[in-house]
Amino acid sequence: MRPLRTAALIAVGSELLRPGRSDANGDWLTERLGRLGIEVVARTIVGDDAARTATVIVAALRAGDLVILTGGLGPTEDDRTREALARALGRPLERDAEREERLRAMFESRGRTFRPMQARQTDKPRGAEWVDNPLGTAPGVLCRRAGRLVIALPGVPAEMRRMFEDSVAPLASARAMGALARRALKIGGRLEASVDEQLRDLYGTRGVDVTILAGHEGIELQLAAHGADAEHARLALDALEREIADRLGDDLYGKDDETLPVAVGRALTAAGLSVATAESCTAGLLAAALTEVPGSSAWFRGGVVPYADDLKPVLADVPVEVVARSGAVSEDVARALAEGVRRRTGASLGVGITGIAGPGGGSADKPVGLVHVAIAGPARTDHWRLLHVGDRALIRRRSVSFALDRLRRRASEREAG
Ligand code: ATP
Ligand code: MG
Repeated sequence: MRPLRTAALIAVGSELLRPGRSDANGDWLTERLGRLGIEVVARTIVGDDAARTATVIVAALRAGDLVILTGGLGPTEDDRTREALARALGRPLERDAEREERLRAMFESRGRTFRPMQARQTDKPRGAEWVDNPLGTAPGVLCRRAGRLVIALPGVPAEMRRMFEDSVAPLASARAMGALARRALKIGGRLEASVDEQLRDLYGTRGVDVTILAGHEGIELQLAAHGADAEHARLALDALEREIADRLGDDLYGKDDETLPVAVGRALTAAGLSVATAESCTAGLLAAALTEVPGSSAWFRGGVVPYADDLKPVLADVPVEVVARSGAVSEDVARALAEGVRRRTGASLGVGITGIAGPGGGSADKPVGLVHVAIAGPARTDHWRLLHVGDRALIRRRSVSFALDRLRRRASEREAG
């Protein structure tokens, strides 16, 4: 029998095509199949339409060894998955008389009227098998085709999950080839192209696939390894991770769901340091990011938002003459904000941010996107001048990510001072 290595998922439902809706069933199945060593290689969302769904099923059968559909198995007119399956496989749709009687009896025993429409749930393509639904009335449908499997499950997440665990997972794992393990490695303070260049020769080695992604918290490397079992797959990931870590050194800050603020908190905790913030253009976003971490009160002292120029001296002890001389968006003010808030709060490290987030307020020598970041410690203050491209939201977010990454590195120094 043909092994199952790859899967293609189809989410059926016109409502899923609307903006803001997501295919949560597909996310869940992807994770679950991955643990069985089956890689999801294609995902499609299609509206409630039998002909279009049939087209998508035909394509999915070319993409994956296993095709799983969710949704559109209910009794109503817009539930067209059974019909789409029959069309895609070129088989007639047949009613299962025995199932129909059982369903009718179930309705009647509960005092509910059995409408002819309900019987649609007992139709399946010729030769298909039923997948029992212990939580609902619509059974799933399983079809075999040239060693491949097509399985239709209801859209209701609880029913879908239960049926997957009870019926699909045992079948799939018996035919899966080993296990798939995944890991995300997170990199701060680097550009995607430079990381890519540094690591490119490692992609695909040791049987691990590597995908590089840029996000607003930095770069993410997604590692995926197939192995004879979960342990072998994990060992392959461990080996490649060690090689990558050797090359990247401090640039690597975490893995999987570890965020940049979590890495900052860990570095501060390890060094026994605390931090305070004085933010002008990011107006508290850095403080908010730091305090997203549970337990941040152990190392975050507090922050101020001296947005107006005349409040910079009042809230963060920035000397009035420094603001007058250098302007609010300047290296001098960033340094003074960091040093001032550090002194005032008694924190080990102070962070100052000032910049022009736009869209207005820029000039030739101080354009939109210009941001000054400073980190003050007991012995020295570091400063960076950034020139971001992007809109207001992006400029503010990138400034926060930059400050977090520098803070993490500063806290990891032997002498953070
Ligand atoms: P039913 O027997 O309830 O009619 P069905 O198979 O027809 O089941 P749908 O009507 O398509 O399923 O969906 C039922 C519910 O499940 C809806 O609330 C829908 O929003 C949700 N749902 C459907 N597909 C998905 C999906 N891919 N991800 C998350 N939720 C989904
Ligand atoms: Mg439906």
